[in-house]
Amino acid sequence: MTDLRLAIRDLVVANRILANEDVVDAYGHVSIRHPADPTRYLLARSLSPELIERDDIMEFELDGTPVGDTRQPYLERFIHGAIYEARPDVQAVVHAHAEAVLPFTITPTPLQPVIHSGSFMGVHVPVWDIRDDFGDTNLLVANMAHGRDLARCLGADNVALMRGHGFAAAARSLIEVVRMSVYVPRNARALLAATGLGPVKALSPGEIAARAAGYQPHSPETWRAWEYWARRAGCGHMLARRPVRSATKSRR
Ligand code: MN
Repeated sequence: MTDLRLAIRDLVVANRILANEDVVDAYGHVSIRHPADPTRYLLARSLSPELIERDDIMEFELDGTPVGDTRQPYLERFIHGAIYEARPDVQAVVHAHAEAVLPFTITPTPLQPVIHSGSFMGVHVPVWDIRDDFGDTNLLVANMAHGRDLARCLGADNVALMRGHGFAAAARSLIEVVRMSVYVPRNARALLAATGLGPVKALSPGEIAARAAGYQPHSPETWRAWEYWARRAGCGHMLARRPVRSATKSRR
């Protein structure tokens, strides 16, 4: 398969995983930067992630213009292009409305990593409020000005919360952004469950850095989660074989 076909296949799997893990529902989306052209990205047409097949993936310019395609795109595709434009290091983006993060978008209480698997959101999770610069809107990221404002708020961080709406997550690979998007709501639930029990002990910046330093995107541990989530989501048959590098290193 070409890099593009592999990227599309992985993107379909990512959509199904995020749907099955309740990160997205009818709404929410995941994209990857085009493997051969960093000025473009791949994102499904306007369709719920659980239903997405290879043929539903469209190609976009960073400004959100579809490339040779007249199908209906997601209105909020500007989230993706604006983040790719601002962050050359980012290869994959998720936008979701996961309920567990919402309390942290509407109160001053910061979302911070409190469980080990939540560490990848990083020390700082900013909250973007569309009203600050755009006044009363329908809260949707409906153009590049909105998207660029969100990307500015994200800055060099991995996750930005969106007030009264959800979150946007960005990472250097698809597997990392999916993993982060699965664990951000779980971390939020743990933090909410702890609230009222006593003072909350968050991960320290040193612990967060230690986990980031130890993370290998092609390790057997990383693959284990991808394989598990994909099979649960009913698309195990679409999986790539385990990367050769990891398979040879970890034969047991
Ligand atoms: Mn949205």
